[in-house]
Amino acid sequence: MTRLALIAHDEKKPDLIEFASAHRDQLEEYELIATGTTGKRLREATGLEIERKASGPLGGDLMIGAEVAANRLDGIVFLRDPLTAQPHEPDISALLRICDVHDTSLATNLASATYLVAGVGDDRSR
Ligand code: PGA
Repeated sequence: MTRLALIAHDEKKPDLIEFASAHRDQLEEYELIATGTTGKRLREATGLEIERKASGPLGGDLMIGAEVAANRLDGIVFLRDPLTAQPHEPDISALLRICDVHDTSLATNLASATYLVAGVGDDRSR
């Protein structure tokens, strides 16, 4: 089954919730994981079934990166806040890097997230 991770920085969580609500039918087809707070808020707002990792600042980004390293993840939607410094920036950079190492689809804004969510399910054979 296609496995997709969802992450959003605090300023972007409302955008991700709106996005997930709009793409609920598609997202329901996937196995979803998320960082702690993102997952909690998405679950409350959309009712989607989501496996929650640790909160980002406590290592959740790295836990999702580990899934990429283990080839367990097909894609990540990570709505980053480009305007606010994040204390766990090194973890975020590590996550982006491991996606490039493994050629794993990664969307960091809503425009690309739309394409990723629409296409990642067809991409399993790569
Ligand atoms: P959060 O983590 O979903 O637990 O807020 C996201 C992040 O900060 O990377």
